[in-house]
Amino acid sequence: MSYDLHTHSTASDGAYAPAELIRQAHAAGVTHLALTDHDSTDGLIAAQAEATECGLTLIPAVEISTSWHGKSVHIVGLAIDPDKPELQQGLARLQSQRMARAEEMGRSLAKRGIEGGFEAARALAGGGMITRTHFARFLASQGLATTVRAVFDQYLVQGKPGYVHTEWVGLEDAVGWIKSAGGIAVVAHPQRYKLTGSWLRRLLIEFKEAGGEALEVVAGNASLGDIQSSATAARRHELLASVGSDFHSPDSCWLKLGHLQELPKDLTPVWSLWND
Ligand code: AMP
Ligand code: MN
Ligand code: MN
Ligand code: MN
Repeated sequence: MSYDLHTHSTASDGAYAPAELIRQAHAAGVTHLALTDHDSTDGLIAAQAEATECGLTLIPAVEISTSWHGKSVHIVGLAIDPDKPELQQGLARLQSQRMARAEEMGRSLAKRGIEGGFEAARALAGGGMITRTHFARFLASQGLATTVRAVFDQYLVQGKPGYVHTEWVGLEDAVGWIKSAGGIAVVAHPQRYKLTGSWLRRLLIEFKEAGGEALEVVAGNASLGDIQSSATAARRHELLASVGSDFHSPDSCWLKLGHLQELPKDLTPVWSLWND
């Protein structure tokens, strides 16, 4: 069995439509895939239809944007029932925050002489969530930087012209919505928040108090050292362990679909919860 529990489709900032993502994952040997679009479950119906065709197990999921002490922390909800109203009402709040932020990003770029950013990002998002990735694609297409990474560094991070600070929802809200939908809350890619050891401990304690249950130990572009320190944190805080590539597109720097390091053997994988 091959698990990949963190991936994106065109319902947010992934390059593949949900059905195409499922086909690519299946071809890459993934047997269990979670589609975790940012703040949206809109890709799940098409993904499930294709998963049934391919004989792949789809785990319905979402990646929720939260703010924690001024940092943007992502909480993945696995094995959710997307039809639960409390979850959808919460996601609707994030979706309107995303829209308002995108408009503000457009105005902020326009003040620096870059016109049409909001309209372009919205068109690139094609009805899905508008993310900074869409602004990055637009800015790169204008020849404003050579790589997507450089676009982020020059335009889309704190202190740069296209950056707009957003206070997303709180940790407790996100975990609560996931639990109300019968799901398992996972702290995504812990190494990406650049937290010191004591801040990570604080995050994981608060997360557990809110009802969170798992940590993404094997995450996207995590190094072996990152995996070891996340494994140590999972043991210390008695969290289940998840694995996910955070796949967005075939040409992004994140790991490829299904090409993931193994979990340390002593950890309890998050899927033990739904395989029992
Ligand atoms: P948002 O949630 O709209 O703020 O956008 C965040 C998304 O931007 C993340 O989910 C990543 O897909 C992408 N992203 C963030 N930082 C970078 C970076 N340095 N290079 C490429 N993509 C990035
Ligand atoms: Mn993304
Ligand atoms: Mn993320
Ligand atoms: Mn992600």
